[in-house]
Amino acid sequence: MYQLTGLTKRYAQKGKQVTALAGVDLVIPRGQLVAIQGPTGGGKSTLLQMLGALDRPTSGAVRLGGHDLSTAGGAALTDIRATEIGFVFQSFNLIPTLTALANVETAFAGSLARVGRDEVHRRATAALQEVGLGERLSHLPAELSGGQQQRVAIARALVKDPSVLLADEPTGALDEATRDEIMSLIERQWRDRGLTVVIVTHDSWVARRAERRLRIEQGQVRDI
Ligand code: ADP
Ligand code: MG
Repeated sequence: MYQLTGLTKRYAQKGKQVTALAGVDLVIPRGQLVAIQGPTGGGKSTLLQMLGALDRPTSGAVRLGGHDLSTAGGAALTDIRATEIGFVFQSFNLIPTLTALANVETAFAGSLARVGRDEVHRRATAALQEVGLGERLSHLPAELSGGQQQRVAIARALVKDPSVLLADEPTGALDEATRDEIMSLIERQWRDRGLTVVIVTHDSWVARRAERRLRIEQGQVRDI
């Protein structure tokens, strides 16, 4: 589970301090599916970055299971990101020159020697089959639809079996039918794997499918 205590993040902007998170206290139990909504500039992406160990708070604590993400060293944070957390973004963030399979295999970039090429290949193939892309392994991103590209990104996020999936507007670039498909896929992975899932979304239809809805505004979080 996540435990956030007095979580504060300030940025320097043109010599001024901007408070993106203003003392957030929040517990997200393991296995919860949470949606985060709120106005632009409210702190959604900053919160997701803190949950994802991509950046450190100015003050306060972020605990994930037994790890304290606010005080862990750089190598420990890299390790936590690599083993515990999967990320999905609005823009898919696939590498355009790599096939679907090779994109998923990049999740093992730091552990290729240890895991072994054959095992990486086997697991990436299985992950793509699981998201319904077993017939598209050797396609480049440009040869795939938006929904298919997001499926590749989800396979990449989950191929190492993390405990947490963090998604920043995962359906923001998709039409309604595809949005439905991607949410169903995320929900199925959530149920089957017992994942903790945090989805930032502007879309109330997406948010209503979550177990819990949070609103973040001016760096303050509340349940809605
Ligand atoms: P949201 O995702 O809800 O739109 P953000 O978390 O991106 O909000 O931003 C919250 C506040 O922090 C905004 O005022 C934004 O300008 C500021 N901010 C976010 N990231 C940075 C950064 N890297 N440097 C300076 N200011 C930032
Ligand atoms: Mg944002």
